[in-house]
Amino acid sequence: MSSRLPNKTALITGAGSGIGSAIATLFAQQGARVALFDLDGETTEALAAELKQQSGQHCFAYSADVTQPEEVQRAVSEAQQALGPIDILINCAGVNVFRDPLALEDDDWQRCMEVNLKGPYNLIRSVLPGMLARQYGNIVNVASVHGHKIIPGAFPYPVAKHGLIGLTRSLGVEYASQGIRINSISPGLIMTPAAEAWLASCPDPQAERERQAALLPCKRIGEPQEVAYTALFLASDEARFINATDILVDGGRSQIYHE
Ligand code: NAP
Repeated sequence: MSSRLPNKTALITGAGSGIGSAIATLFAQQGARVALFDLDGETTEALAAELKQQSGQHCFAYSADVTQPEEVQRAVSEAQQALGPIDILINCAGVNVFRDPLALEDDDWQRCMEVNLKGPYNLIRSVLPGMLARQYGNIVNVASVHGHKIIPGAFPYPVAKHGLIGLTRSLGVEYASQGIRINSISPGLIMTPAAEAWLASCPDPQAERERQAALLPCKRIGEPQEVAYTALFLASDEARFINATDILVDGGRSQIYHE
């Protein structure tokens, strides 16, 4: 089978876990050189070594906090030196912050916005000059169904994810005439370590897991690979006329108004 990302270099944030890890794995299998960014350098280094062995592609890990612009810039420069110009950026690092709006601490608001909204912008600002110089680049932001619909009890996460979809649309239009495409993906509930941690925090995790699956029209929770395949399509030249838009990957759940 021919690869779908031949001679492409992709940078993936949040690559050490869940959806980001699935995207990094699929992209390496599809012929891309991958730069794995995450907070935890050890996990991503082990994954990079494994991907390199499996795919034969150049895969490197970088420890970088997406909320720190200088750290991000330094890691992007190192990645470009090692792998070449970045063709594809996947902003996947994210964090669940679910609080009672009136009990929310300023620090929690700040963390939610910094990781989920400013973080993707920090990465975009670092890779965009190189993409503009080459008049080529594909950016995919991992947003959420929380960027479309409101689930009570999840504040302020939806505020950040609505903002991320706004960032996608705004910058997608801004740079469209210069060979840059910027899109987002909005996953529904996907079984990842973050989702497992949320389920574990519920009073009856097994009952909540079954309740969540029953809410979905397809009666099952999503898998990280299902988001990864959507990222692969958007990041590839197959999607060359798709820009400044969002794809829901939620098994149809968010289209239901009433049961
Ligand atoms: P995950 O398993 O927790 O993976 C997220 C990764 O991002 C982790 O490796 C985490 O590192 C990293 N990260 C967190 N803060 C960071 C920072 N400041 N700088 C760099 N890396 C950071 O989560 P996931 O479920 O795969 O979610 C991935 C993305 O999908 C997120 O943007 C999330 O909002 C979105 N999403 C997920 C779901 C779902 O149901 N799973 C649904 C909709 C949207 P640590 O583990 O070290 O903190």
